[in-house]
Parts: sequence; structure tokens; C-alpha cells
Amino acid sequence: MPADASPSAARHRPAAPRIRQLVLKVHSRCNLACDYCYVYRHADQGWRNRPRVIAPDTVRRVADRLAAHVARHRTDRVRVVLHGGEPLLAGVVVLDRTVRTLRDAMPTGTTLDIAMQTNGLLLDEAALDLCHTHGIDVGVSLDGDRRSNDRGRRHADGRGSFAEVARALRLLARPEHRSRYAGLLCTIDLANDPIAVYEGLREFDPPRLDLLLPHGNWSTPPPGRHPGDPATPYADWLIAVFDRWYSETPRRTGIRLFESLIALLLGGRSGTQALGAAEPDVMTIETDGTIEGTDTLKTTTASAMRTGFDVFRHSLDDALRHPSLAGRPEGVAALAPACRACPVVGTCGGGLYAHRFRDDAGFAHPSVYCADLFRLIRHVQTVVTADLDAVRRRVSDLSAPAGR
Ligand code: SF4
Repeated sequence: MPADASPSAARHRPAAPRIRQLVLKVHSRCNLACDYCYVYRHADQGWRNRPRVIAPDTVRRVADRLAAHVARHRTDRVRVVLHGGEPLLAGVVVLDRTVRTLRDAMPTGTTLDIAMQTNGLLLDEAALDLCHTHGIDVGVSLDGDRRSNDRGRRHADGRGSFAEVARALRLLARPEHRSRYAGLLCTIDLANDPIAVYEGLREFDPPRLDLLLPHGNWSTPPPGRHPGDPATPYADWLIAVFDRWYSETPRRTGIRLFESLIALLLGGRSGTQALGAAEPDVMTIETDGTIEGTDTLKTTTASAMRTGFDVFRHSLDDALRHPSLAGRPEGVAALAPACRACPVVGTCGGGLYAHRFRDDAGFAHPSVYCADLFRLIRHVQTVVTADLDAVRRRVSDLSAPAGR
């Protein structure tokens, strides 16, 4: 047992933040050049100076640091997401060695879940063999049907990526590989028809999907979102999908954003950092071993997520003391005054942290998507409340004495 992990020490120690998800950059480049990419097209261009592929020494240090962290916090489950750039550019040999190193270091009693977020271009039988060997769950980025996807997800020479991703998804959805299919990630483009996008995603039979608001903030607003404008184009888009999805019986896929919203409305927990005032529990490690906060802060300023820590000199607990991680406000009490007074704050939580940023005042703002979030939450609340009322009426009819 580590020196500070005795039961009496734990009783007197304030609850320390801990990491539930580590995003590990195994390759710093990408084989696509998507219009909205937060890694290559936003404020932080640090990737230019980093090694392309993570080195074995760096992986060993990451594994040791993570093992020490989970032992100290007696964490029974932690997740590592193999990320990039495009993680499959690292090649199956590097990925195999990386996962073995991470697993070998884990202390007894801690389950290590491994996932990979890929653009799918290099997802072939060899990559899937690796995923089966190590139990790696595969999430693929796709923005809908061919037309919607190829509007933004393109090669550097302008060619769309849909055909290649569709090939990979047909492979992943086969019965022999489906156990490794985690789902699809789709970034919203207002130029795309919401129902065409939803149906395009469903074509690939994902167990789950998520719809992401494009990154932006008060100083660099997202496309079509004008700060201060009461229009709600993103809520309108999302509501069209929500209504279609919610009315399906049976529902063929889960949508993380909507499921989180409903869970929060019913008093549960959010499954996404886009909603709910949850504590930040995600850490990113770059290919050079640099420790950073959540990747989405790359969209704010070049320095917003730089901690100055790395796995060679610092423990993950050291890094958690940095303002972009543990020092980051958590809970409703730490939100902007407008959020604290907002009737939907319990569900919204101020939105994604990166979306609150403004050059002159940091993160002490509502989300740049405030108007959209408010309208979406109210809509879902109305629909779910009507459903619950109908259930209550049915239950009350059933329990009424016969003959009444
Ligand atoms: S809807 Fe706007 S004001 Fe309300 S909690 Fe969300 S971001 Fe804050």
C-alpha cells in the first residue's frame, strides 16, 4: 500500500481530483485536413514542434505515472484513449507495444479500458486484430452522409473522405468485429441538413453516436453563431435530430448528448463534458510527454492548456494542481453569475469549458452557445415532462380501484 493510502490518511485527506480518462497522443500528425480541426487550425500550433510518433520511453513513463496515480487514488477503473492526430498513423507495432506497456504497469484491482478515436482511413483487418487482442473500443469520426461528411472532412488536396471511412465502417460493423465498435463522432455543420446527417450516420448501424458543437468561443465565434444574437441555429438543428431520434420505436442507437441531457433532467449524471458542471477529469499527454488539460482548450489561446509539466519530471498529481486542471472552476458555484442565476444551470452547467472563453476575461462567461443550449434544454425538458406525465396518468389509472 502506498505511504499515503492508509485508511486513516484517507479519512483526513480532502478529496483530491483524479483522472478518469487519459487522452494519449500516439501520433501528432493527421492524414486528413478537416476544415474545423481543433488540433491544426486553432490557436495552439504546438504540434509543429512535437515528435510524430510517441517514443517507447515516453510510453513507459506515462504507464508508470498513470499506475502511480491510480494506486494513490485507489481507482478501480481508468480509461486511456489512443488519440492523435490520427492514432493509426503510428502503426500496429507501436500501438501494440503502447497498450502492452500500459497494461503491464496497471496495479492489481484497476481495470484499464482502452479506446481509440480514429478517422477510419487506416482501419483495416490488421488494425482490428490489434483491437481484438487488446480489447480496444473504436470510435470513428464521420459527419453524416457522403455530401455532409465531405463538406468538411477532406484530404489536404480537397478530396472527400467518405468512401474510405464507409469502407472501414462496413468492416467494423461486421459481426466478427462489432464488439469493438464504440460508435461515431459527428461535428455539426449548419450547412448540412440535420435529418440527412442523422440518417447518414445511422446507415452504419452505430451502437452509439455523439453530436459535437464545433469549437469556438466569444472571441472566435463558431460558424453561424454571432455572440449576442438571440437566434438559435444550433438548437434548431439539434432539436430536429432529437425529435426524430426520440420518436423512434425502438431506438436503434444512443445519442450521448441527448441521453446526458435527459439523465441530468432526471437527476442523474452527464456522460459528456458538454453538459453539466462536472469536475474536470480528463488529462491529455502529447507525443513528447507534455501533460496538458482537456484538448478542446487548444481552441482558446496557445497557452490556455500548457501546464509546463511532463511525464519525465512530474507526477500526474503534480499536474493536477495546475489551473487548467484542478484549479479549473468546478460545480455551479464557480460558474459566471449569469449561469448561476439561470433556470437550466443544473442541466447545462455553463456548457463546455472551452466555449466560455473570451480574450479579455478568460472563462468567466456563459457558453458562446448559451442561447442554443437554453432552447435545446427547454425543448427536451418539455418533451420528457409530457412523457412522464403520461406515464404517471397511466400508472394512476392502473392503480385506481376497479369499477371507478
Ligand atoms: S443556458 Fe447559458 S446562462 Fe444558462 S447555464 Fe447554460 S450557458 Fe449558463
